[in-house]
Amino acid sequence: MNTLFESETRTATLEEHVPYWHETYDVVVIGAGFAGLTAAIEAHNAGASVVVIEKMKAPGGNSIISDGGIAAAGTSMQEKAGIADSAELMYSDMLKAGMGLNHPALVREVATHSTEAFLWSRDYLGVPYMDRIDQFGGHTVPRCYTAENVSGSTIIRCQVAKLRELDVEMRTQTMLKGLIRDASGTVCGVAVRDGYNHKSPHSGTDRFIKATRGVILATGGFGADVSFRTAQDPRLSEEIDTTNTPFATAEALIEALRIQAMPVHLSHIQLGPWASPDEKGFGDGPRFADYIVFQYGLIVSPTTSARIVNELADRKTVADAILEVGRPCIGIADSKAVEQSGWSIDRGIEKGVVKVFSSLSELGSHYGLDNAALASTVERFNGFVEAKADAEFGKPIISEAGPLTNPPFFAMRLWPKVHHTMGGVQINASAQVIDLKGYPTGGLYAAGEATGGVHGACRLGSCAITDCLVFGRIAGRSAATEKP
Ligand SMILES: Cc1cc2nc3c(=O)[nH]c(=O)nc-3n(C[C@H](O)[C@H](O)[C@H](O)COP(=O)(O)OP(=O)(O)OC[C@H]3O[C@@H](n4cnc5c(N)ncnc54)[C@H](O)[C@@H]3O)c2cc1C
Repeated sequence: MNTLFESETRTATLEEHVPYWHETYDVVVIGAGFAGLTAAIEAHNAGASVVVIEKMKAPGGNSIISDGGIAAAGTSMQEKAGIADSAELMYSDMLKAGMGLNHPALVREVATHSTEAFLWSRDYLGVPYMDRIDQFGGHTVPRCYTAENVSGSTIIRCQVAKLRELDVEMRTQTMLKGLIRDASGTVCGVAVRDGYNHKSPHSGTDRFIKATRGVILATGGFGADVSFRTAQDPRLSEEIDTTNTPFATAEALIEALRIQAMPVHLSHIQLGPWASPDEKGFGDGPRFADYIVFQYGLIVSPTTSARIVNELADRKTVADAILEVGRPCIGIADSKAVEQSGWSIDRGIEKGVVKVFSSLSELGSHYGLDNAALASTVERFNGFVEAKADAEFGKPIISEAGPLTNPPFFAMRLWPKVHHTMGGVQINASAQVIDLKGYPTGGLYAAGEATGGVHGACRLGSCAITDCLVFGRIAGRSAATEKP
């Protein structure tokens, strides 16, 4: 046990109480997800010596288990596909979903630099993307590009390879314990636990690393931290499953708050409406629900067999509508929709999360629906699809969608899970962490899910990766150029 940490945490956060610095870098990046790895690459390329600190055995965080879908507005691929899009449209979509709580300057930054960040990942990092553009709820047009294998691991692998190529050091099993400030209040280093092992949290030894230019907090969200998240939203108890890794916890955020970083939107915690209660974690159901049901199909209430919402609305709207019903709702699509989407749902079917039915009435009986009501709901919905106008909920009917008339029919139960924490520390457009008095905290930067304000009340699908890359790049450059 190191007394500086265990019993004198407050004094250990001042440089004068650090016995000696074990080592010195220009920039110390905390967290090896999309945001941290991006920041490290950019800080190195801006001339700084950099080390990345990661508490787990391997880099990746939530990023590596993500679907790897990134939003970018106004790309040449969209132009080729005849999709008219712009940074302005993406900005207004994000603000609308965020219910206007988003900090406009941050949203502007993300939307304006979305294409640049996407192309940087593709052309500089070498991330391979699939040849398709998807439209998720709340986006006015298709603008999501998906990394090959539908996995964030494709992006992480390229980021790690780039760091190796650049000879940037990454240290795993090293946990941030404290942010250390000098007499002027500037963050000048970190206290870490070297050899950290989550199974035995007191394992390892303490170490002090000096950061002459800046520390970048890229420690992700706190979706798996039941105690911290229920303090923000008491409804999100351990009964509610999460799509996050178990290590998406709040200790680094708490440390930033302790040195007076401004908290923003901590109680805005997103539930993924495309999740299934029939599997743990993120699972395989969301592929079917998000990419097929929400885009081509419909969601019905198990009580009324009627639709409940615009299936292509933002996640909050759809999740709230399902929770309002109070029981898992049923997402439905047909074989044509699956074929049109181009996605494989085999894994969901093999797992039994997605079910296959030869007729709508077989589907209805399986879920205990009123078959006559279901038939009329689907018939009415098909009419809207054919008319390309949803008179009931105003769902934008995507151009390739057709009526659901082609068996087999596919369905899954939908029940929201904790997915994304929109809140975190406040940053400005230079990724500087803002303090409780509204001033930048010298030497401290943040990017990605550790920050609050970009997404307001609701993050749109595929906008988190854009946020991580745009602000990761800004944080890396800002920290590298801070005066030592
Ligand atoms: C299942 C799933 C699918 C998703 N799919 C998409 C998608 O397709 N598109 C999209 O835009 N968004 C998606 N998201 C959201 C997106 O993946 C995340 O918001 C994003 O990856 C967060 O990146 P980050 O770098 O901020 O944090 P993370 O990737 O979580 O990285 C943070 C890192 O910091 C480390 N860390 C935390 N605390 C400490 C500490 N005290 N000391 C040292 N290290 C620490 C963590 O271990 C972790 O490795 C998805 C999320 C999930 C869970």
